Amino acid sequence: MMPMEKLVALCKRRGFLFQSSEIYGGLQGFWDYGPLGVELKRNVKAAWWHDMVGGHNELVTPPGAPSTYEMTGLDCTIIMHPQVWKCSGHYDLFHDHMVDCRETRKRYRFDQVRGRWVEAKDQKIFVTTTVEADEEQADVQRRALKFFKLRPKDAESLKYDGDFTTLDSVQEQEKVLGPDAKELGTLTEPREFNLMFKTTIGALGGEADAAFLRPETAQGIFVNFKNVLDSSRMRLPMGIAQIGKSFRNEITPRNFTFRSREFEQMEIEFFCHPDESHKWYSYWRDRRLQWYKDMGLSSDRLIMREHAASELAHYSVGTADIEYAFPFMAEGEYGELEGVAHRGDFDLRSHMEGKLDPKTKPMEVEKNEHGQPKHRGSGKDLSYRDDLTGEKYIPHVVEPSAGADRATLAFLCQAFNEDEQPDENGKMQTRTVLKFHPRLAPIKAAVFPLVKKDGMPEKAKEIYGMLKEKMSTFYDEKAAVGRRYRRQDEAGTPFCITVDGDSLKEDTVTIRDRDSLKQWRVATKDLVAELTERLS
Ligand code: ATP
Repeated sequence: MMPMEKLVALCKRRGFLFQSSEIYGGLQGFWDYGPLGVELKRNVKAAWWHDMVGGHNELVTPPGAPSTYEMTGLDCTIIMHPQVWKCSGHYDLFHDHMVDCRETRKRYRFDQVRGRWVEAKDQKIFVTTTVEADEEQADVQRRALKFFKLRPKDAESLKYDGDFTTLDSVQEQEKVLGPDAKELGTLTEPREFNLMFKTTIGALGGEADAAFLRPETAQGIFVNFKNVLDSSRMRLPMGIAQIGKSFRNEITPRNFTFRSREFEQMEIEFFCHPDESHKWYSYWRDRRLQWYKDMGLSSDRLIMREHAASELAHYSVGTADIEYAFPFMAEGEYGELEGVAHRGDFDLRSHMEGKLDPKTKPMEVEKNEHGQPKHRGSGKDLSYRDDLTGEKYIPHVVEPSAGADRATLAFLCQAFNEDEQPDENGKMQTRTVLKFHPRLAPIKAAVFPLVKKDGMPEKAKEIYGMLKEKMSTFYDEKAAVGRRYRRQDEAGTPFCITVDGDSLKEDTVTIRDRDSLKQWRVATKDLVAELTERLS
């Protein structure tokens, strides 16, 4: 598989992704999309919105669905009433455990510090690391040698005991060598760290005005459920979709955009009758997995990981993660693209009645020491009344929750290809090509005059103007045509259109296909129709 560094370098060189605030040294966990990146990500979001919402036909039952259903959208605020996060559980539960190093002042996510026992010179220590799984052993060996003041050629004198584990299994903290430390026993006990970004509303900014940047878009949908029903007269089953920014103060942002602190989500909350919810859960799992395949991710790099019963909240009959074998992960490991969760009536009920305690007291509202609800709900009736049957119930929810940035990164990883192609002189050269699905490609067509004379640029500019009206198009007359092709291959442009001498005589152009490299002529008047058909 392609080394990740090549893709990261290409993303910067060609303007897909830049580190945020780069001229000031960058800000960890924040990324900007450049000129090509913004088009790619917009196309990802537009394809999702079209396929899930805009293009959904509520009069027809899609394959695998229990019945017809309706879909609509919302766009909610990033800052919401603080009570929302108390009732959703994020205020109390949304945290990671982290450890600090007293020596280096670095902070690590507890579950990402891994290590193994190493013995030398009659001393046994637990050497930790946070590098990727395939580099762990090399890192631990290097640091153990350094700690024991041994030379690389003495590596064989190191004795290892047991496999790599997390810090859970280690009782003797004083024997732990932190991931960047020189001395033993410098890591603190794990502490909780709330992942929500805090801010204040208004000028005074006291604790009473504290607010949070949303860590997910879902809650905006739950709290507007009644508004949507009342204003749209929609009936269940139905889904409400939202695309928008979410923020999580991740302790260890890493792997390019995979784990960022500011990112975009594409979420659906699908509301249905409790008796039907199992069927809808399995429909959405399959439907969402298929979507990634349809958009070009290869089946052998995608898996559906069903959570074990012990991982599930009591209200949930199932949660499945759609995962992709990102190239920065170790062999056999996958990263989550999307979670599809059956959430029962947990969310709507919490916003009605107050925060439920999903772990200890099933469907009971948490009480404070005075016996009052700890996190009071809105008190609003969020149940649904079926006007045909007269039945009233709190809908169950199936939630397919995807990340726009993770999906975009997966499409970039999948698209990256290198092959050997002859250049103008017949010499074999490595060609870098991004083989995006045509719907996702940032630029759909590039128009070139073969040479910059004999009326070719004028004709090419005319064609460019015509195409630009219909699709994202690029005009290029600089350098040899072979170089122009290669620049478009790197941008993932599916079609290059060349205007040559014959174009002027016969009013035809050549189309060149990015993947097959085939070239063929079409009449200029048929060009838009031909490209539109091939792009869809
Ligand atoms: P992870 O376990 O990787 O932190 P999660 O299970 O917390 O993810 P969810 O809360 O289910 O993630 O969020 C839904 C989706 O939002 C994820 O599948 C992912 O695509 C995206 N997402 C979540 N956190 C991040 C992040 N820090 N950076 C980029 N995308 C994210």
